[in-house]
Amino acid sequence: MSDQYKFLLDESKLPKAWYNINADLPVPPEPVLNPQTLEPITPDFLSVLFPMSLIMQEISTERYIEIPEPVRDIYKLWRPTPFFRAHRLERALDTPAHIYYKYEGVSPVGSHKPNTAVPQAFYNKEAGVKALTTETGAGQWGSALAMACNFFGMDLEVYMVKTSYNMKPYRRIVIESFGAEVYASPTDRTEYGRSVLAQDPTNPGSLGIAISEAVEVAAKSGGQKKYSLGSVLNHVLLHQTVIGQEVLQQLEMAGEYPDMVIACTGGGSNFGGFAFPFLQQNFTNGKKTQVIAAEPAASPSLTKGTYTFDYGDTAQMAPVVKMHTLGHTFIPPEIHAGGLRYHGMSPQVSALVNNGDVEARAVKQMDTFKAALTFARAEGIIPAPEPTHAIAVAIEEALKCKESGEEKVIVFNLCGHGHFDMASYEAYLKGQLVDYEYPQEAIAEAMTHLPKIG
Ligand SMILES: *Cc1c(COP(=O)(O)O)cnc(C)c1O
Repeated sequence: MSDQYKFLLDESKLPKAWYNINADLPVPPEPVLNPQTLEPITPDFLSVLFPMSLIMQEISTERYIEIPEPVRDIYKLWRPTPFFRAHRLERALDTPAHIYYKYEGVSPVGSHKPNTAVPQAFYNKEAGVKALTTETGAGQWGSALAMACNFFGMDLEVYMVKTSYNMKPYRRIVIESFGAEVYASPTDRTEYGRSVLAQDPTNPGSLGIAISEAVEVAAKSGGQKKYSLGSVLNHVLLHQTVIGQEVLQQLEMAGEYPDMVIACTGGGSNFGGFAFPFLQQNFTNGKKTQVIAAEPAASPSLTKGTYTFDYGDTAQMAPVVKMHTLGHTFIPPEIHAGGLRYHGMSPQVSALVNNGDVEARAVKQMDTFKAALTFARAEGIIPAPEPTHAIAVAIEEALKCKESGEEKVIVFNLCGHGHFDMASYEAYLKGQLVDYEYPQEAIAEAMTHLPKIG
């Protein structure tokens, strides 16, 4: 087996259920709070934004939740995804480590995001919802949800961060090709967008602002439209666990078990989906895999943020949750890994980091692109700027093995390809990229706006 490169699963091996880590969390979940009253939230409040089936998944403690057949049928367009032994990268690094990666870039829109976009569209359709609203940063989430809504015959409004809308037209065109509407946020379509523009007509937008706009449109639609979020929430991470469950089977084919699993974290969804099935093995089956979350040094919620209650969005309309946060008013520097520019983090991932079950590492932008090219030149895949954070940590660990002579098994999640990110690579190749300093003062300022919980 050791000369094999690809580990491919038959469609019959596609998981039949998602794994819910709430069943095995070593610490009880913290309450989710209503943003107006700061009291524990009621399903009524959430049902303005989400269908009841997704709300029930959000709070469920059942270990496995069955994947509906119509969702599995669509998953089969690209799942199970391939798993690779990075033989050529190992040789390039001259390391005794065994490096493997799961590749989610084979989905039709090129990332892991459809794993949750498809079930979210399905459950909303089933609940009779006519249209969804959402935000998107670089456009990966918008592309995935546009594809999913198109499959289920639903309308979609996407609030896209204005800088990305202007600088990354290709993902916007992908979204439009699937029939969705895209607006450059802040827009004049919402009360909140208008208030932002009144203060600063040139506001470039942020994920927090775009979330506020999409939430407002759904909340004021009288039940016609619901809101969909591509990361952070428990049900989103739940849907992504098809990734890790497949990897467990593929590692078995390879005859190995990982010493270390690594994924990048923006809101935590590809990380959770990839790593939670391994944490399950750690919690319930005596395994001792080291689990590492890799985040950008410029938006370091896990390594430099505070574990506390904060709003999910800038306008304080989204629920208040306990998470690692840089402050909901903080706008991270314009790094190229747009998908990792969020002020907060999944409450589940935050709790696991706080409890010491997951280790977090921050990686600087220049180091991520250096690692990306080392990987691309060995394996032939140009990664999205987000998973380059995981690649940088994997390479660093493989080089440590070279020093120590250890044959560690290192597995990372390559959650998307970088084919729409050529401008980032061009900037790096031309020597125009920079490292951002940790924005200490801006974060300290943002931390003064946390909700005051009694
Ligand atoms: C959206 C995105 C991310 C960040 O989101 P997570 O929820 O942290 O996974 C990372 N990588 C890619 C390719 C993305 O599209």
